[in-house]
Amino acid sequence: MSRSVLVTGGNRGIGLAIARAFADAGDKVAITYRSGEPPAGFLAVRCDITDPEQVERAYKEIEEAQGPVEVLVANAGVTRDQLLLRMSEEDFTSVLETNLTGTFRVVKRASRGMLRARKGRIVLISSVVGLLGSAGQANYAASKAGLVGFARSIARELGSRNITINVVAPGFVDTDMTRALSDEQRANILTGVPLGRYAQPEEVAASVRFLSSDEAAYITGAVIPVDGGLGMGH
Ligand code: NDP
Repeated sequence: MSRSVLVTGGNRGIGLAIARAFADAGDKVAITYRSGEPPAGFLAVRCDITDPEQVERAYKEIEEAQGPVEVLVANAGVTRDQLLLRMSEEDFTSVLETNLTGTFRVVKRASRGMLRARKGRIVLISSVVGLLGSAGQANYAASKAGLVGFARSIARELGSRNITINVVAPGFVDTDMTRALSDEQRANILTGVPLGRYAQPEEVAASVRFLSSDEAAYITGAVIPVDGGLGMGH
């Protein structure tokens, strides 16, 4: 059955691969984008998740076009790397504002329709770094670890209404975000990855699709690593 899906930050990278995976399976897919030309094939709504009014407007547009959101993938995220002593208030709060507070905003808004429908699927895109830590990424790691506590709380709040919420924690994925790293940084990272390579965005998308499927109806509050073994044991 075709469901109403929303993928935040679905205009590129991992989000775009996730949006394509749902669309290929026959779902109605809305994506958010902030600027430029969004990719074709989806309902593209302009939305910066740091702005509550834009989030509200985006949901209204999506609900009118394809009905209440039944599957939400909160994927939008940013990095602003800096060592602690050089990390400004703005470096810290802007990353938290997008990755954690922005996710709170879109999940809260989606939960309204899901509660009414007494069903729903929510997947948050965290990172291996949330549990492993990463020098130079205290802001990003804190935001991604925060998503785990957030998801597990919501899992307890909404479970009785047949709404699941899970976290996917990718390792290093070949996207704009990691292309910004130096060759040396990229090579160093791979030494810690048992599978010895970066993930393709589609490999993250496959887990997201599974967690959103009927087969995953009894999985909630889980953190699923898609990290080539990088985070094993944490
Ligand atoms: P990209 O940098 O390629 O894309 C980031 C996406 O987030 C873009 O669509 C961007 O939109 C969107 N976005 C950023 N800020 C906002 C905002 N304020 N409001 C709305 N949308 C926003 O990143 P990836 O595809 O690599 O990452 C996607 C997610 O996966 C992120 O949450 C990231 O932290 C996580 N992740 C990535 C890993 C990797 O190795 N690449 C590893 C682990 C986790 P726009 O185009 O408008 O800028």
